Amino acid sequence: SKREGFATIPDVSWEDVGALKSVREQLDRAIVKPIKRPEMFKALGLRSHTGVLLWGPPGCGKTLLAKAVAAESKANFIAVKGPELLNKYVGESEASVRKVFTRARSSVPCIVFFDEIDALTPKRDDASSEASSRVVNTLLSEMDGLNQRAGIYIIAATNRPDMIDNAMLRPGRLDKPLFVDLPGPEERVEILKTLLRGKPVSDADVPHILDLARGPNCKGFSGADLESLFQNAGYAAVDREGETIVTRDFVHASTMVRGSVTDIQKYHA
Ligand code: ATP
Repeated sequence: SKREGFATIPDVSWEDVGALKSVREQLDRAIVKPIKRPEMFKALGLRSHTGVLLWGPPGCGKTLLAKAVAAESKANFIAVKGPELLNKYVGESEASVRKVFTRARSSVPCIVFFDEIDALTPKRDDASSEASSRVVNTLLSEMDGLNQRAGIYIIAATNRPDMIDNAMLRPGRLDKPLFVDLPGPEERVEILKTLLRGKPVSDADVPHILDLARGPNCKGFSGADLESLFQNAGYAAVDREGETIVTRDFVHASTMVRGSVTDIQKYHA
């Protein structure tokens, strides 16, 4: 989006995030409360995490959670995609990393969201280029420079936690890993409920649509797949010139959408 890299307050609340209750609670305690109630944390002598790592299969709400954290704490939000920060010209990637932190410092309280962090900070080994290790070092030094009351919090996201340089995961850095799992049957129901909120779907149809989300047609669906189910149901309604989206639109849609996460076992290894 054209706001990429710039600070804004997202308009996503906890209400827009279905299921993931435990992850939401942990983010609330790790970031939202420390920003909203700094005096409470200070009085209790609690230190807060500067960095959280959201990891898990694609399309399960990592970006959504990060935005909700920023909105709920009324903090600015700077989103950066790992691969987009990498530049082939010597020194430019490091400069881009520093620029992100300069922006964050001028917009506190601020959440900096690094999506696809594995691309930015891959494990360093004998084969890694000097360039990639300079990027890792720059990011590490910027993170280490954030002190407790800087008001800057880092949320990073990845599908490949095993690919991230270990130095990134040490205390004071991305030291709080939170697993964002593929939803199970009841969680798909919760997510579809949030997606249906305020939408033109009749109360009589809702239980049937939720049964569909719970059932075998939607087995293995991620949140993103459920969003796609909803969109396809909407198109089915358009095709028959309907004013509301009805159960059979969802049934039709469920034949169009396939679960996009095909390797879930690997996240539970
Ligand atoms: P990726 O790893 O591909 O970046 P992600 O985990 O960051 O994926 P999101 O971008 O947060 O996934 O999710 C994509 C879309 O799927 C969201 O914009 C939302 O419409 C829907 N979605 C995913 N998870 C949820 C959820 N738990 N509740 C409601 N909607 C969800």
